[in-house]
Amino acid sequence: MRGTLTATGILLVVALAYAGSCIIRPFRDCWLCDGKGHHRSKRKRKLSRPCGWCNRTGKRLRFGRRLWNRARRTAREAA
Ligand SMILES: [Zn+2]
Repeated sequence: MRGTLTATGILLVVALAYAGSCIIRPFRDCWLCDGKGHHRSKRKRKLSRPCGWCNRTGKRLRFGRRLWNRARRTAREAA
């Protein structure tokens, strides 16, 4: 019983820390273009093409922040 409680506590702390980091830094570098906004095509190495994943911004919204945005939107629509 005590072990379950400790595990829950640790999970809660980790979740809170992750949520906090998502608030402080909602964006992270795009995995495809490495934050540059464009990447080299695999076949034609010289060609640099705009990154479709991040829409050429080089930044991607983090998973936790996306969840948060969706939750807020749902709450707003329900009200
Ligand atoms: Zn990208």
